[in-house]
Amino acid sequence: MRKRNPHKTSDPRRDTEEAVTAVRQIYAELKANPPERNCTLQTECCRFQLTGRIPMLTKGEAMTAAKALRAAGRKELPKRADGACPLLHPFTSRCMIYEGRPFGCRTHFCEAAGGPYERREVVDLIHRLEEIDENLGGEGTRELSVAISDALEEIR
Ligand code: SF4
Repeated sequence: MRKRNPHKTSDPRRDTEEAVTAVRQIYAELKANPPERNCTLQTECCRFQLTGRIPMLTKGEAMTAAKALRAAGRKELPKRADGACPLLHPFTSRCMIYEGRPFGCRTHFCEAAGGPYERREVVDLIHRLEEIDENLGGEGTRELSVAISDALEEIR
């Protein structure tokens, strides 16, 4: 069972804003000092039906992705029938929330980009995401679609 968070305020909107800012900071740190990898936007890792792997998101990541999707003019998670990530644009084949994409999408389970990061390479950042999740009353990581759909509901 999760511990009660001593940092949580009585203002959920403020908690979310602070969490999203903290998650963006983590993404910026990863971007500024990434382990050696080369994402060439092939979007291979976005085609879950091929990789068999779906990114798992903490609540802060889901909130960040939901905000990015809202900023892109979408109120709901798009539907896809082919098993690819719902955030992969059907016509451009680009991520609709590239700047707000989850941590797992940045740490490449894509073989073309060099394969997944070793956990030890990013463990400090993972711990910070887990802490943010706990502060938001999250339940740990959840599958991308479920996590972002719930986050969209929450920021409605
Ligand atoms: S969120 Fe974006 S980068 Fe991540 S799997 Fe979906 S389309 Fe690909």
